[in-house]
This record gives sequence, structure tokens and C-alpha cells, in this order.
Amino acid sequence: MDLFYKKKIYALFPQITEYDVPLSQLSQWRIGGKAEVVVRPRSKKELIKIRQWLYLNDLKSVIIGNTTNLLFSDEGLHVVVIQIGSNFSGLKIDGVELIAESGIWIPSLARVAMQAGLSGLEHTCGIPGSLGGLIVMNGGSQRQSISSVVRYVEIVDNKGKIKRYTNKECDFSYRNSIFQNKDDVIVEVGLILDTNQDKNDIRREMLRILKSRRKKFPQKQPNCGSTFISNLDMYEDYGPPGKIIEGCGLKGLSRGDAQISKLHANFIVNTGRAQANDILYLINIIKETVYKKTGYQMIVEAKFVTSCGDIISL
Ligand SMILES: Cc1cc2nc3c(=O)[nH]c(=O)nc-3n(C[C@H](O)[C@H](O)[C@H](O)COP(=O)(O)OP(=O)(O)OC[C@H]3O[C@@H](n4cnc5c(N)ncnc54)[C@H](O)[C@@H]3O)c2cc1C
Repeated sequence: MDLFYKKKIYALFPQITEYDVPLSQLSQWRIGGKAEVVVRPRSKKELIKIRQWLYLNDLKSVIIGNTTNLLFSDEGLHVVVIQIGSNFSGLKIDGVELIAESGIWIPSLARVAMQAGLSGLEHTCGIPGSLGGLIVMNGGSQRQSISSVVRYVEIVDNKGKIKRYTNKECDFSYRNSIFQNKDDVIVEVGLILDTNQDKNDIRREMLRILKSRRKKFPQKQPNCGSTFISNLDMYEDYGPPGKIIEGCGLKGLSRGDAQISKLHANFIVNTGRAQANDILYLINIIKETVYKKTGYQMIVEAKFVTSCGDIISL
């Protein structure tokens, strides 16, 4: 990025701008080169100002949340990174509607819903990302997705304009939404929950889910959750991705410090100083081997962020 613009961003937004941030420290997978500029807006108003300024100066940006679904390039990031995190954690309950800012941490959101006796978010209680990221990915667990409780999604577009999408307009499908192809920053989400469950039952269900995740998923080594999406047809023929990868004899395979987890083969863990290229190598080996054995193309859930700020499917 041009040094002139780097200095200008810092001059305009000094308290929220950071230079040359190592993505190997910032990212969940602990992988990636340096991000030249990271801005962390503290309010919708500030975000609008940033987006308007970037638009007027024809500067590209990339939006990130908690990075729990992102693999960053070893080359780093040469565009402005807008990170939506704990500054956007406001939350309001209005009857059965929960109105939340997009940076809220999902486990906290699920806990607040449970405490208010509202059900519908139990399946999300162990997902370590932000609500904005969950909406973009239409994430969830236990074969459920966040889309089933979304009433609206409010965004700030690349020109700094606010817009609201209804659930239908979000065009949700399994682990996908319209936002994967848009340059919109999600700022707020309205969720319609249920009052038909006892608070203690909601709590028990959440504890059951957390216990089972702790047993099945690697806890200590950095990872990005499930690497591959479960495909319904493939599931019926061969089972879930982890079982198929294990059946291909790939569990435990390493390249550099990247390893197909010995605990759960649908996780690729960073055992030290793994590079993005090591992860990409293992993903390709899995895809090729599974295709040869089953005829199914595995779909990668994690997204790759190029050094130019494009977020691409692998
Ligand atoms: C240990 C572990 C377990 C996981 N388990 C699950 C699981 O059970 N189910 C599941 O679905 N996922 C799971 N994930 C993946 C991940 O947590 C979810 O996809 C999560 O919701 C992503 O949120 P994030 O804030 O980390 O988004 P990021 O990874 O930062 O970004 C993901 C995508 O969302 C976009 N984005 C993020 N925030 C915004 C915003 N405010 N506005 C616009 N775009 C935005 C980014 O541009 C990117 O395209 C897991 C990950 C880990 C590490």
C-alpha cells in the first residue's frame, strides 16, 4: 500500500489504526504474513466515515471478524483490513427478538439468550467466531444454521450507506449467504427466538453440546474448525468428512507444521509455525484422495485471503 495513504489513515483514525500487524499473531490459525493496516471501528458512525473515505480514495478493504474461518496468505495483506470485533458487542432484547451488533462473540450471545429463557441459539454455543462471520457463513452445528432465526441483517456498504436485508434477501443456503459475494460490513442482526423451552433445559442442552465438542475437537492446537463442509449425499454414502478422510488413511499426515489432526481428521492443526502453503498442500491432498476413492468433490469451509484482499473459496 502507498505510504501516503497509510499515513493518512493513521492521521484520520489514530486510535483505531494499527500498522504491520503479524497475521500469525492475529489469526485463529496463527498463520499469515503482515497486514499493512488494520482499522477497528468503534461505532457505526466511525465505520461509515472509514468506508466513505476509502471509497473516495479508491482504496480496497477486506472485512474480518474473529478470523475463525480464514486462512491468510504467507505474503500478508496489502489492503486495508476492517476488523469488526468487541467494539461492536451491543445487545438488546425486545420480547422474543434479540437485536445484536455483529462483533459480539457467539458463545456470549448464546449465553445471554439462554439467561433470558430464549431458545434457538443452543447449537451455536461452542462456535468461537463473531455474529457477523456466522451470518456470512450461515454457520451452525447439530445440522442447524443461524439463518433459521434471522429476521434482518443491517449492513454498511462500500460507499458508507446503511441497508437492511430481510431473511429472504440474505439468500441463505447451507453454509452460504449473499454476503459471501458482497462488499458489505454487517453491523447489526435481528434474531427471532422462542420462549417454548425452560431455561434449565436450554442450559442443559448447551452443556451437552459443549461437552461433546470438547471430547471430539482439538482444543489446544490452532485450527479453523471443520476444514470441509458436510455434503448430504456424500454423508449418506460414506459418512461425515472426518470419517472419510480417516478412511483414506490421511489422519495425522503432516506437511511442515501443518497436520491433519490425529483427534479429528476434518481439522487441520498448526503444531508450530505452519505456513499457509502447508495447509493448502494438505487440503489438496485430501481433496484429490477423497475424489479418487469416492467420486465426491469435498467443499472447503475455510476461506483463503489473498495478499490483494480477495476472499476466495478453495
Ligand atoms: C474451533 C472452531 C470451531 C468451529 N466450529 C464451527 C461450527 O460448529 N459451525 C460453524 O458453522 N462454524 C464453525 N467454525 C467456523 C467459524 O467459527 C464460523 O464460521 C464463524 O462464525 C466465523 O466468524 P468469524 O468472526 O471468525 O469470521 P471470520 O473468519 O473473520 O470471517 C469469515 C467470513 O465472514 C466475513 N465477515 C466477518 N465478519 C463480518 C462482518 N461484520 N461483516 C461482513 N463480513 C464479515 C469475512 O469477510 C469472511 O468472509 C469453527 C471455527 C473454529 C476455529
